[in-house]
Amino acid sequence: MKIFNYMETVVEDELERLLSDITDVCKCQKCRMDMMVWTLNRLPPKYVLSDKGRMYTKLTEQDVQFRADVVRELTKAIIHISKNPKH
Ligand SMILES: [Zn+2]
Repeated sequence: MKIFNYMETVVEDELERLLSDITDVCKCQKCRMDMMVWTLNRLPPKYVLSDKGRMYTKLTEQDVQFRADVVRELTKAIIHISKNPKH
């Protein structure tokens, strides 16, 4: 049994999805990581218990709600990081 921050998984998922629709920003590993860190620092963590990849916490309704927050923060992160890339 392990504790992990489910928010990280959602942020990573949604970032991939958003970036696939955008063409004019840098999508290198460094920028992607910066975008994830920027977003994760602005959202509350979502700790869940997991055992061999299986999650014990039910996330259905909550999931939809907080995904909207994730997308909103990620959009800001993409704008911010793409204007100030660290390379
Ligand atoms: Zn980059």
